Amino acid sequence: MWSRQYRRHWLPGIMAGLLIVSSAQGADRFDAARAFGYLERICEIGPRISGTAGMTAQQELIERHFAQFPCKIFHQDFDVPHPQSGEPVRMKNMIISWHPAARERVLLACHYDTRPHPDRELLPINRDKPFIGANDGASGVAFFMELAHHMEGLKPHYGVDFVFFDGEELVYEKGDKYFYGSEYFATAYRDRPPEYRYVAGILVDMIADKKLTLYQERISLRYASAVTRSVWDTARRLRENSFIARPKHELNDDHVPLNEIAKIPTCDLIDFDFPYWHTRNDLPAACSGDSLKSVGRVIMAWLESYDGK
Ligand SMILES: [Zn+2]
Repeated sequence: MWSRQYRRHWLPGIMAGLLIVSSAQGADRFDAARAFGYLERICEIGPRISGTAGMTAQQELIERHFAQFPCKIFHQDFDVPHPQSGEPVRMKNMIISWHPAARERVLLACHYDTRPHPDRELLPINRDKPFIGANDGASGVAFFMELAHHMEGLKPHYGVDFVFFDGEELVYEKGDKYFYGSEYFATAYRDRPPEYRYVAGILVDMIADKKLTLYQERISLRYASAVTRSVWDTARRLRENSFIARPKHELNDDHVPLNEIAKIPTCDLIDFDFPYWHTRNDLPAACSGDSLKSVGRVIMAWLESYDGK
């Protein structure tokens, strides 16, 4: 009697619990130390401004890294006028495609260029010093380099593309254009539709802040509320407390062209409470592999649970 009752009433609950634990354990494989090592390696290159040798070195590092995995690497190359000299600057979006035959896909993206100057430094003399962009630039790249180790073990509902956008902030002065890479990508997707379709997107930006706080971003809620809520629901299920399910900032970021031009419902996962934003102190010391891991656990579990409903 006891065992029948146990079976009837408790076993399904225990089994469901085991399933949740096992998927959370899968996500736990995300290696915080290795991810942080990638972030340091990217920062060792120095600034990675669009069109410079630093950016080329980073592109080579990315090519070498992803060549180890069963994914396909595509490029989108195009020129934009340099905001100061007007000379052409070669831009390159990099697309890392997993399960490339899948006709329905999700987009996981970040920008990988760094701002030319730390222009939020208080003293003008410091604004000419190098900007390394450990959080604002390297964090997204390091995150995807680590996530690559786990893609084979994941069972997402859709094909997955990692996209590195160039030219997010080739910005020298107020009024210079932002979002070259994401605009190019979104316009190409709209005007020359590929054989596949993106059902959802997540943009990550500044996700390595030591004191990670991720509020829901307002433009994401407007254009991609279901995607946004599904990400924070996943975080709640995994007890990732750095995700706070309340709106806070409204930010122009690479998700705007994706939502407005490409009509891909895309949520911006960004820690905009980073104290060293656009300063010389955006360095690895301000970042943490544990923060990358918090985001990694959520994105890995989201990839396996998100089915567009
Ligand atoms: Zn920035």
